Amino acid sequence: MKHGTWTNWYGNQSCNSFVADAQSEDDIVEAVRFAKNKGLKIRVAGTGHSNVPLIPNSGVVIRTDNLKGIAAHDFENNTATIWGGTKIHDIGDALWELGLGLSNQGDIDTQSIVGAISTGTHGTGLSLKNLSSMVDALRIVDATGTVRTLDDSNQNQMRAARVSLGLLGIVTQVKMKVTKAYHLHEWVGIMPYAAVAEIEAEMVKKYRHFGYFWCTSAPSVKWLGVSAEGNLERFDDCAFVRIFDPNPIDVGELSRYEIRRRYDRSYRIYPEVYTPDFHEMEYMVPLDVGVECFREVKTTLRDLFEVVTVPAEMRFTAGDDNYLSEYYGGPRIAISASGRMGKEDLNFFRALDKIFEKYDGRSHWGKIHFLNRERLARVYPRHGDFVSVRREMDPEGMFLNDYLDPLFA
Ligand SMILES: Cc1cc2nc3c(=O)[nH]c(=O)nc-3n(C[C@H](O)[C@H](O)[C@H](O)COP(=O)(O)OP(=O)(O)OC[C@H]3O[C@@H](n4cnc5c(N)ncnc54)[C@H](O)[C@@H]3O)c2cc1C
Repeated sequence: MKHGTWTNWYGNQSCNSFVADAQSEDDIVEAVRFAKNKGLKIRVAGTGHSNVPLIPNSGVVIRTDNLKGIAAHDFENNTATIWGGTKIHDIGDALWELGLGLSNQGDIDTQSIVGAISTGTHGTGLSLKNLSSMVDALRIVDATGTVRTLDDSNQNQMRAARVSLGLLGIVTQVKMKVTKAYHLHEWVGIMPYAAVAEIEAEMVKKYRHFGYFWCTSAPSVKWLGVSAEGNLERFDDCAFVRIFDPNPIDVGELSRYEIRRRYDRSYRIYPEVYTPDFHEMEYMVPLDVGVECFREVKTTLRDLFEVVTVPAEMRFTAGDDNYLSEYYGGPRIAISASGRMGKEDLNFFRALDKIFEKYDGRSHWGKIHFLNRERLARVYPRHGDFVSVRREMDPEGMFLNDYLDPLFA
């Protein structure tokens, strides 16, 4: 095993340690045994799209990029078994050829499938759950270096394992519930925020996917890759709305705000393209307080920080019963707010965090947050159950690092 440097996608997290690129499941077994014998920590990295220190440690970082592809599928029962390091953008075509597809995806498709699952990554759609909830079974290399299969025969372990931040072991394959391949219509429009606030509740129910970015002014719209020209004031306090649906989308009077329509295979509609010039915080709040919470976030972004270039985002996801899921126990609204790297600092995020705390917000595991153990246990009511499973599966804490230890030891 060689020493090297691991760095995340944003470039804000890195470490010097043993760094291994697994070529097979056997390599992962070997790396875990190596770490165990030497008394080292070991953290598994996906594509490093999380901006918090989930991976850095001075022991071993293992990468799974080469464990990729669809290992098996069952068309009749809508399942696919996928290697853990497979990038989401490589899953679309492969499943399409088999007549299958993922039932939802997030804003990007460059993450690894297990990296995305392990932090509870979500898209938008009030009737749809996050990616983690699509997992039926996992193949995992545990803290003894043994390959095990976890499935619903042990509900307690599965509910811990679906969102587990690499704390229970290294997942080599996931068996996921998928759906038959499908197309989506996309409608995108830019309209005054006030117009969206009026129709939001109806749109969320009407369409399979509804979500939007809130932009303070023209530079925020440009950040989204839209050319903002002419009377720039019309972009003040506006929303960039995205609707996806299997049926043709008729938005009636809103059509005057339309900037784009598409119809394509589902996995080509979901992703946007981003550059790593921002850092992000996202909290999930209960549906009934979402609008109120967002109003406060908006006011803080506009009045306290005057001009915030990176837009805030609102998305909607169904509930589930996984211990560390941001959606445990019921549907929630995900509110994301981002600052430019090197411009908006931690004071910016602390101000927002105070608002989210007031609304019992649950932080996204891959994004900036200020939860300590006490607050974590309060907003994630099954935190204690997760910790029990973690202690049982990794009694020596080899999968913990300095960031995760205070939260989950
Ligand atoms: C531009 C951008 C857009 C994003 N959009 C969304 C979005 O729309 N919705 C959303 O919810 N999130 C979004 N995210 C967050 C992102 O989905 C998560 O941070 C996700 O965890 C990143 O996946 P990754 O492969 O990079 O994993 P990493 O960040 O490398 O790792 C994440 C966690 O997964 C664990 N892990 C990775 N591989 C394994 C494995 N094989 N076995 C066990 N554990 C493993 C790691 O140890 C770590 O704890 C976005 C992030 C960026 C940068």
